[in-house]
Amino acid sequence: MNPPHWPARMHIASVGISKSCFLFSLAFCSLLLLLIPALQSPAHQLDPPQPRPQMKSGPARQPHHANLPAGTASASRADPAAGFSRSSPVRPEIARAVKVKTSGSRPTDRLNLKDIFIAVKTTRKYHKSRLELLIQTWVSQAKEQTYIFTDGEDKELQVKTGANIINTNCSAAHNRQALCCKMSVEYDKFIESQKKWFCHVDDDNYVILPSLLRLLSSYHHSQDIYLGRPSLDHPIEAAERVKSDGTMSVKFWFATGGAGFCISRGLALKMSPWASLGNFITTAEKIRLPDDCTIGYIIEALLEVTLTHTHLFHSHLENLQKLPVTTVLDQVTLSYGGFENRRNVVSIVGGFSLAEDPTRFKTVHCLLYPHTEWCPKLKSGHNN
Ligand code: UDP
Ligand code: MN
Repeated sequence: MNPPHWPARMHIASVGISKSCFLFSLAFCSLLLLLIPALQSPAHQLDPPQPRPQMKSGPARQPHHANLPAGTASASRADPAAGFSRSSPVRPEIARAVKVKTSGSRPTDRLNLKDIFIAVKTTRKYHKSRLELLIQTWVSQAKEQTYIFTDGEDKELQVKTGANIINTNCSAAHNRQALCCKMSVEYDKFIESQKKWFCHVDDDNYVILPSLLRLLSSYHHSQDIYLGRPSLDHPIEAAERVKSDGTMSVKFWFATGGAGFCISRGLALKMSPWASLGNFITTAEKIRLPDDCTIGYIIEALLEVTLTHTHLFHSHLENLQKLPVTTVLDQVTLSYGGFENRRNVVSIVGGFSLAEDPTRFKTVHCLLYPHTEWCPKLKSGHNN
């Protein structure tokens, strides 16, 4: 009842409350600290790459594969269906592309064709028979960003077409050293270019540029992305030369160069210790495998980044006639082969007969770009 005592009593009471509050918070915090490790999710190393907002690439990891038993890095990928199922009705890359396109979640940083560096590997003897067709068709639509890597001077072709032709001065032989020499120059030129994506194709590939742009737009160039089609249905096993003259077995997936493949800039930068300035040739010698396998070795075995398998890339190792006609223009790369015995080309009908267009590349090109001056004139009602 005595008002002057109230504040003192209140003070004692509030000290008691804050003491118990303090003890309670202390106990709660300790409990939280104990729980944190248990709540943390397991490592995301083996998650397939997903489209995600802009992220900075981390520093390159040091190689530690030599301490791993063979195949550890890709143990969960020994199954060819891993990554995506062959029988899946919707290809994941298409599903992702559609999702990104319709969700509008990343309106900024739109990918442009000029952000893609396209390297075409060729050799002097194929300038006339293979390269001219590419320059006449898809390269004409991506002149600035397509670089042709060859092994002999051809001033005439350069002047006539205005194409970016780079003489690598590598040997014109079709052996591992010569092919890896070209890949090494391709890699260095890409790094120099500052472009966001590196795509490699052979001189018997047609690149469907709108599909390529759509596919790459579903990822971000700072993610670790390695996209392509394996030629085997299992990882390749190689003997990796290690110190003191020994070898170790190493297993990894690789994208076949004959179908083309793409690498994000973020990942390409991490490859630098094993790929830049001639290191690619040394790396290839360590496993004694061709250029495309060496790319797979650096990415999957050394950097432990998973190949994203895609069926949108095609080489003439597969039966191209089996590609459904209605899906041909949705593919990212096409090829041709087997003229000697059995013709292996895509089934597509257009303005050119098989005799006029044995590779089908002109037909594909005119369906994609019907206003091209050399394409058959459009008739009203249909476009061939
Ligand atoms: N190639 C090369 N040097 C050669 C032979 C071929 O650079 O001596 C290139 C060729 O231009 C092509 C790639 O290697 O881009 C694959 O060659 P090809 O299509 O003849 O062989 P395959 O696809 O059967 O491996
Ligand atoms: Mn080929």
